[in-house]
Amino acid sequence: MKRVYFDNNATTPLAPEVFEVMRAYLLEDYGNASSIHWFGQRAKAGVEKAREQVARLLNARASEVVFTSGGTESDNAALFGIVEAARAERKHVVTTAIEHPAVLSTAKALERRGVSVTYVRVGASGVIDPADVANALRPETVLISVMHANNELGTLQPIEEIGRLARERDIYFHTDAVQSVGKILVDVEKLGVDLLALSGHKLHGPKGVGALYVRKGTILRTLLHGGHHERDRRPGTENVAGIVGLGAAAEVARAHLAEESGRVAALRDRLEAGIMASVTHVAVNGDRTRRLPTTTNLRFDYLEGEGFVIAMDLRGIACSTGSACSSGSLEPSHVLTAIGLKPDKARASIRFSLGRFNTGEDVDAALRILPGVVEQLRAVSPHYRKEAVSSQPSAVGKS
Ligand code: PLP
Repeated sequence: MKRVYFDNNATTPLAPEVFEVMRAYLLEDYGNASSIHWFGQRAKAGVEKAREQVARLLNARASEVVFTSGGTESDNAALFGIVEAARAERKHVVTTAIEHPAVLSTAKALERRGVSVTYVRVGASGVIDPADVANALRPETVLISVMHANNELGTLQPIEEIGRLARERDIYFHTDAVQSVGKILVDVEKLGVDLLALSGHKLHGPKGVGALYVRKGTILRTLLHGGHHERDRRPGTENVAGIVGLGAAAEVARAHLAEESGRVAALRDRLEAGIMASVTHVAVNGDRTRRLPTTTNLRFDYLEGEGFVIAMDLRGIACSTGSACSSGSLEPSHVLTAIGLKPDKARASIRFSLGRFNTGEDVDAALRILPGVVEQLRAVSPHYRKEAVSSQPSAVGKS
């Protein structure tokens, strides 16, 4: 059976050219990047090249890139780092209701430590209104944290506008750009951010490595305590092969950004249009224009999302009910409920997320299989049968 992977927002396959670069650092250049001998210096050179590559992708300076263990650590380091370094009277943070748990749970942890947090709400578009962020600000606000692209809907947030606002008010601004880096243009100068989180495994790099962009002059307390690695900003022996892989992935992404985002958007649009043409009672969740080229989130009425994902998987198509972190839980997605979906509609929502290795054949395969799966599942849905009967003309006049 041909298998199709449409869950690239959960994780992406490692690019073969990235693997080749990493291989040498696992088998040959295995030194500790802090060692002064030849092995150590080879490793250090690999890390510093990767820092340049990541910086170039973000239009940042290499000295502003700190390597971490991934998106979660980068988000934690940004939120805790800013708040803990702030003066005692500046303990208010503004974030949004649709953040990834890497930010939301960190904000909750800050609240338990006495920090006040405002969660800006969002409408059906899944796009934050900068005016709501402005209204949430207080004299004591020290940090705004708004994600760049939402992982479930793909919706893009007005980071530039919020960046201007933050600058005017002299408030630090962090964005979780884990889903957007490598997929669309991410320029820290244009966005006006002070801190930006990214993760290797979302851009065809390895898992367990990420970076935090920290604008020069930002005062940050370190999350971890240990040695003097990463210029005292993140202790721990560097994950050299992972970092080198992240650097290579950043370079590949930068080289192909424009053409790839157009190609993937066309595939996503064909998939979305094909599904909507072949299935009834289906709608797109969130704004259809302000979103990543890779993502569509569709609501299939009278369907139970988990059952759909399993039925599609049995036929070789991998998609998801939303974020990998919340799948398996009975609670509907916090993002989908935040945009106003009732729990049954949220549970009937499916995310298809495409990536560099998807082809037109993958879309064709999904479009061949999906209508039958939807029909089969709806046939056993008591709600669907009842509505279908009650909407038949003969049933309408019945009293
Ligand atoms: N932020 C967003 C928006 C994500 O989608 C993810 C991963 O799904 C993360 C943060 C966490 O990144 P990592 O898996 O590298 O810890």
